[in-house]
Amino acid sequence: MLIDHFGRVHDYLRISLTDVCNFRCTYCMAEENMRFMPPANLMQAHEIDTIAHEFIKMGINKIRLTGGEPLIRKDASEILLSLSKYPIKLTLTTNGTEVKNLIPVFKQAGIRAINVSLDTLQKEKFFEITRRNEFDKVWDNIHLLIAEGFHVKVNTVVMRGVNEDEIPNFIEWTKNQPVHVRFIEFMPFAGNQWNNQKVFSYQEILDTAALKYNFIRMNDEANETAKKFKPYNHQGTFAVISTMTAPFCSSCNRMRLTADGKMKNCLFSKGEVDILGALRKGEDIVPLIKECVLDKSEALGGQFSGDYQKVDASKITNRSMINIGG
Ligand code: SAM
Ligand code: SF4
Repeated sequence: MLIDHFGRVHDYLRISLTDVCNFRCTYCMAEENMRFMPPANLMQAHEIDTIAHEFIKMGINKIRLTGGEPLIRKDASEILLSLSKYPIKLTLTTNGTEVKNLIPVFKQAGIRAINVSLDTLQKEKFFEITRRNEFDKVWDNIHLLIAEGFHVKVNTVVMRGVNEDEIPNFIEWTKNQPVHVRFIEFMPFAGNQWNNQKVFSYQEILDTAALKYNFIRMNDEANETAKKFKPYNHQGTFAVISTMTAPFCSSCNRMRLTADGKMKNCLFSKGEVDILGALRKGEDIVPLIKECVLDKSEALGGQFSGDYQKVDASKITNRSMINIGG
């Protein structure tokens, strides 16, 4: 088992398949001059399998594939199918553009739940946020996934002055569709133009929702990062991921592998451990993984306190979200 100094058991691994993306979401990456990793630096499909297997032998029971956009990798199907042989819950986070053709692969790989990102229900705003004109495709694909029986969570990053006015519309969507919207507080990363004024907080999200809807708090599952709510008579639910104003570090069970095979014990950790480099040199990666977990800080990578108003984004040492894998 992988246990850190604070007694937290780590059984959930998020693997970034690539830092490349077909979108340019303003809160995630710059519009131009993005420099992506050379393909030779990326973990190859068989390397992902080998590394994942070592983690699984140490007690991992859930793997999420992410990125960049994981499904634009040409060997995404191969990777999904190779990981599906392990006794884990396999899932992914995607921007939704590529899911249509992959539905048979998801089913073959035993995937039941998928997270799709969508920050607005308005076509024009979608273009402003993602810098791509793909709203219809994403919208149709979300409904296709629901119709095909997948449990669909929609990730919505809420930014003040951008989309906080759409919170009621997102909740309205859950009335007649079994869709699970997760409002995410805007987080700071290298080059994403974050400032604390743009954070629309957990409490503000709840207050906005309460102006129009009656809802009850649902029970938290173990290691849950989202606080979930069920509006009366709605088929779906909504939730808030309050990383900035009410972090959930005390029950964190997550580790991350970047697309170039570096292990991070926290989304905000400064340190990275080169697992892929060691594997390619024929070294034993098990002690490196254990050490990385042991090194984990108590909260938020040790980089800032829970008071998001005091965060100075320029002082945070971290890669961008696409480099880390969201
Ligand atoms: N491309 C895929 C997607 O968009 O779903 C997977 C990668 S993306 C980095 C993973 C998740 O991180 C998405 O739901 C995205 O909205 C979220 N994300 C990216 N930047 C963020 C930020 N600055 N604050 C909060 N969430 C962010
Ligand atoms: Fe791409 Fe996802 Fe980042 Fe948007 S949030 S730019 S879709 S990786």
